[in-house]
Amino acid sequence: MEITKQPVLNIGMVGHIDHGKTTLLSKLTGKFADTHSEELKRGITIKLGYADIIIRKCKKCDSFTREKTCKCGGEAEPYEYVSFVDVPGHEMLMATMLSGAAIIDAALLVIAANEPCPRPQTKEHLIALQAKGLKNIIIVQNKIDLVSKEQALENCKQIKKFVNGTVAENAPIIPVSAQQEINIESIFEEITKIPIPKRDTGSEPIFFVARSFDINRPGTNAKYLKGGVLGGILHQGIFKVGDMIEIKPGMSVKKHEKTEYIPLRTKILGLQAGNNQLEEAIPSGSLAIQTELDPYLTKSDNLVGCIVGKEKQLPDAVFSMKIKTSLFKEVIGTEKAQAVEPIKITEPLLLSINTSISLGIVAKIKGNETDLSLRIPVVALKGSKVGIARNMQGHWRLIGYGEIF
Ligand code: GDP
Ligand code: MG
Ligand code: ZN
Repeated sequence: MEITKQPVLNIGMVGHIDHGKTTLLSKLTGKFADTHSEELKRGITIKLGYADIIIRKCKKCDSFTREKTCKCGGEAEPYEYVSFVDVPGHEMLMATMLSGAAIIDAALLVIAANEPCPRPQTKEHLIALQAKGLKNIIIVQNKIDLVSKEQALENCKQIKKFVNGTVAENAPIIPVSAQQEINIESIFEEITKIPIPKRDTGSEPIFFVARSFDINRPGTNAKYLKGGVLGGILHQGIFKVGDMIEIKPGMSVKKHEKTEYIPLRTKILGLQAGNNQLEEAIPSGSLAIQTELDPYLTKSDNLVGCIVGKEKQLPDAVFSMKIKTSLFKEVIGTEKAQAVEPIKITEPLLLSINTSISLGIVAKIKGNETDLSLRIPVVALKGSKVGIARNMQGHWRLIGYGEIF
């Protein structure tokens, strides 16, 4: 089978803390195990927080693997190129990030078989995926090595009851042990059944920055310095090497106690997906853009949350926006059920829009239309989803979602 040069799917790992997301990710990809040496070898890819793999299909027994030789001894041929995404951000904010993020096409919802289902974050993440409108969910029932067959079946019943009536109602439930590497192949098989999303290549390009960094070793002679690198997702359109691009809101500068944002202009010097250098990139999995920017500007994720477009094509970043809100009936992520109170004038809300996070103060409310004044400016693209969280007893809790209009 012909393999694409870019991954065709972005798959996010979600689920309650300690249920085995990181362990599973390392078994699925064979990466992250020894991050340090991998990082040296692979440079960009690992720093992105992404791991790309080619899923292979065995010629002899038809099962899926990432190895060249199947467990049965048969030869496994390349089948599909996919990208796993470590959803960026603090674990506490993950639900908020997820509901506003336009960076994943599918999710693995990891649920531990040795605990009652649902745990608070399991519920929180599923509702966030639902708010975002994400339908491609694979439920991974993990840690089956710790329970008896009866317990596993009982847990599976609980999972089915929990997802009943949600977007994951018909999601497959795959029992595995990530740690003991039992039944991982079935996850690959389910991934290959996910329909590849239709991508928009006709519109002006829009790229969401999820990571940004300086790839130079400390102490590199200025003559040999490489320009700043942006990692993220091309949402629509096509980028080519040589394109002149603009990055907004851009660089933040402190001026008389005030922070100002200056859009950046630069040229695309290179495009990279996994280990492939591309002349042009279409929307699909994770992508790295090598630029002419001073690496000082891109180091340490400085430009995360920015949007990249072709020169003169992006709207300006704004300090206020209007959204249509849909609030949940109940607060998500708390142990005890709690009703969501209506949004109030002047209250602060944590907003997640694509790869950016901003604090919004409620300025005006009319029905479900809310005007927000923003602490950090955003490029407010009409139709973008917004995750909305409210601070309750010191925790940001997802209370609903909105859409920019
Ligand atoms: P995360 O917080 O969801 O990323 O969970 P981790 O991957 O860090 O796993 C939490 C703990 O569970 C670690 O101690 C893992 O070794 C352990 N763990 C993960 N998967 C399994 C499994 O399949 N079986 C058992 N027995 N332990 C597991
Ligand atoms: Mg983890
Ligand atoms: Zn085989």
